[in-house]
Amino acid sequence: MKTARVAYKGRVYEAVEKDGKLHLNDHRLISMDEVVWLPPVIPRTIFALGLNYADHAQELDFNAPSEPLVFLKGPNTLIGHQGQTKRPKDVDFMHYECELVVVIGKVARNVTSEEAYQYVKGYTIANDYAIRDYLENYYRPNLRVKNRDTCTPIGPWLVDAEDIKDPMNLTLRTYVNGELTQEGSTSQMIFSIPFLIEYLSSFMTLSPGDMILTGTPKGAVNTKIGDEVITEIEGIGRLLSTIVEDDGY
Ligand code: MG
Repeated sequence: MKTARVAYKGRVYEAVEKDGKLHLNDHRLISMDEVVWLPPVIPRTIFALGLNYADHAQELDFNAPSEPLVFLKGPNTLIGHQGQTKRPKDVDFMHYECELVVVIGKVARNVTSEEAYQYVKGYTIANDYAIRDYLENYYRPNLRVKNRDTCTPIGPWLVDAEDIKDPMNLTLRTYVNGELTQEGSTSQMIFSIPFLIEYLSSFMTLSPGDMILTGTPKGAVNTKIGDEVITEIEGIGRLLSTIVEDDGY
């Protein structure tokens, strides 16, 4: 099943997809263009991986890391499907990052990789925008790069774990104004989903609503104001964001 959170006529609803429409949890069936899409999960801790795809590390001239490079994001940075992402006026290089997001469903502590998938509720898509001008350290990206308001679109759907047979073999694609600019496969992750759950739960408790953004493959290119960026993952959906001028706010 695919679940979304949407705002409609002043209220927030959970919704599921039904015949190309949205079935709200008060039983109304409405068109998908009538709503404002919200992040599909109310977030708790948001983890994000740096350099978790070998081809992406290579395009940046880095060796593959030997331990996961994890940083945290605040909920301020999230925005829903069809949202607007602000591009600072004075920067030269702002790129998207198409990422598979793992959503934790059960309290997890000291979980082994063999049992890790039992703790996954489902999957969604993030676009982990980065502003390269502000980046000082690829291993631990600073807050100005990765915690900006509106710079992490997420959604549209939370897809149940049971509907994704092999999350480690999904195609990821990004389109800028309809043109394919990034393509990869989750099979190319350096640290797999089970490994990451084992690793994180070995020193901290994971809880329902925690999310792990698992990194991006090669192909991150510059974007400009007005660009429509779609990050797409096989079986999970297509997430649209539009880049807007920071001054317009
Ligand atoms: Mg990223």
